[in-house]
Amino acid sequence: AAKQAGKQCYVFYSQDMATQDASRLEKEQILREACEKKQFILHFQPQISMHTGRVTSVEALVRWQHSEKAIVYPGEFISHIEKLGLIVDFGNWVLQTVCEQIAQWRASGLPYLQVAVNISPLHFQDASLPGTVRDLLMKTNIPAQYLELEVTESAMQTKGHVEIFNQLRQLGVKIAIDDFGTGYSCLASLKKLPLDCIKIDKTFIDDVLTSSHTALLVGAIISLANALNYKLVAEGVETRDQALAMRELGCQIIQGYFFCHPVPSDQISALLDVDFTHQLDKDI
Ligand code: C2E
Ligand code: MG
Ligand code: MG
Ligand code: MG
Repeated sequence: AAKQAGKQCYVFYSQDMATQDASRLEKEQILREACEKKQFILHFQPQISMHTGRVTSVEALVRWQHSEKAIVYPGEFISHIEKLGLIVDFGNWVLQTVCEQIAQWRASGLPYLQVAVNISPLHFQDASLPGTVRDLLMKTNIPAQYLELEVTESAMQTKGHVEIFNQLRQLGVKIAIDDFGTGYSCLASLKKLPLDCIKIDKTFIDDVLTSSHTALLVGAIISLANALNYKLVAEGVETRDQALAMRELGCQIIQGYFFCHPVPSDQISALLDVDFTHQLDKDI
């Protein structure tokens, strides 16, 4: 993961460290402190409409600003925040920061931008989540539909999730299933609850060009989403050929490095002026 994330990233918890108790406690302490001091920043990755070529929404992705130079990616620390019992607090900070960011973009003259926020399954079990979201929306004065909560299929197994789902949807907040197709119960989760969006996992995109079986499966998932009137996002699209294949299969919205990496909030404004379909249509 560290290699993939680039040279600024280092592995915070290596296996060796985990076996050394003293060292582990020290690392825990550093992470606790990061949570207390909110040493995190959000980056935003555009989701591109295949109809208009424009940014339709962005996904907020947290980074730990560990020091001036070192950024740590969420794969390295979210599970540890969960284990430390700090995920509700952390998630509420992310939600607050996103709501404030939406308001700030709007105040700077941009149109309202929908932002998707990842919610830990543990946070989704917290009965105070709908109330927290309602208060944040009121305080920042943004319409609820601009907030989309991304949960994985495992959040659909948790006790009490139906009630929390319904309360959130009553507020007008959107709900997306993240990493769709990788969980145990993707059809069960669609049967149980009305949703707004399905995000097809990157593993499907990885194989869409090389496996006709996968391509058929992706086509079927897209039909399913269309029939249910759900928005469909393909995540992890890295190449032009993958993007073209997904568009061909009827995918409406694409997110991935091919179009744009996650970027700091001050770069979003310029991206709203870009027609990304030029990237698809030009011959390279
Ligand atoms: P996710 O929600 O499935 O987010 C997509 C991940 O794929 C992000 O990694 C994104 O940077 C990366 N990605 C996007 N396009 C491409 C691509 O074309 N190729 C490849 N190889 N990767 C791509 P990131 O930012 O490292 O986040 C990893 C995971 O951490 C997220 O997966 C999500 O589960 C979790 N996460 C991120 N931010 C938060 C947060 O604020 N709260 C919680 N609870 N979890 C978060
Ligand atoms: Mg996500
Ligand atoms: Mg995902
Ligand atoms: Mg994922």
